[in-house]
Amino acid sequence: MKQLKAYEVYDGGDNWAIIFATNSATARREGASECGCEFHEVDHCRRKPELDRYAPGPVPPQALIDAGWGFECRRHGCSNWARADDDYVIRGDFVYCCSTCHAMDCARLRQNEAAQAAMCDLVLAWLPDAQITDVYVFGSNLEPQERGGGYSAYADLRFPDIERPARWVFGEAGPRVHGDDIPAFSARYPAFKFEGAAS
Ligand SMILES: [Zn+2]
Repeated sequence: MKQLKAYEVYDGGDNWAIIFATNSATARREGASECGCEFHEVDHCRRKPELDRYAPGPVPPQALIDAGWGFECRRHGCSNWARADDDYVIRGDFVYCCSTCHAMDCARLRQNEAAQAAMCDLVLAWLPDAQITDVYVFGSNLEPQERGGGYSAYADLRFPDIERPARWVFGEAGPRVHGDDIPAFSARYPAFKFEGAAS
């Protein structure tokens, strides 16, 4: 097998990619696709021998910063860039422009996890044999669904002996259950009433 080499591909605008390929034409083609442009629109496709050792990728953020790349701060709402001479913080794949942004993002993640746990507690208080397959909370607080779109918090559920998954959106009176599963669900949890369902 031929050795993969690192190439930096740039579309001349906002998009960059590091591509590992055996030759420049392949790197240009794959880089164009990653940047979302056409082959002939690539501004440059340049060898980056200092990144060859990371083949087949991905290249860790630290190595990219050392190679002159910048990262937009991971903290939502901060649009600063982290570059080689900044006081940045790297945690795994995440890059923060400064230690304050890192600390704020950690706090936000902890709050989000606590809100997710609260959502699970709420569901299990009403539906003790539910199996929670997924839980989503936007932000740090449990809030009812915003009018006009999006889910601010929900849990996806499965129940023993009930065929289809259900979803409980925070703020609603009970889970959304497929119509064909309502009889089985109501037998298990008589406290929940479904509009339009035969009682
Ligand atoms: Zn920042």
